[in-house]
Amino acid sequence: MVNSSIRYGARIRKQYKAVQKEKNAQYKCPSCGKTKVQRISTGIWQCSHCGKVYAGGAYTFTTPAGESAVRQISNMSAQKQAG
Ligand SMILES: [Zn+2]
Repeated sequence: MVNSSIRYGARIRKQYKAVQKEKNAQYKCPSCGKTKVQRISTGIWQCSHCGKVYAGGAYTFTTPAGESAVRQISNMSAQKQAG
């Protein structure tokens, strides 16, 4: 049990690191196509090129359609193969 709780803690730290990285990352703007979308507040993302504001995830920018759905589907099929 001790070992598993240590592993769990490391996993949280890893996730936290990933969140911090994504929080500061720039994302592609669905409107103008420039990689200029930055998090300006929790769940609020703005493109510094065209100024368009998006409501996204708290720490990651999610495009309205396509990308995230594709990623979810590929995750699902990967899990199917593993299980
Ligand atoms: Zn833009």
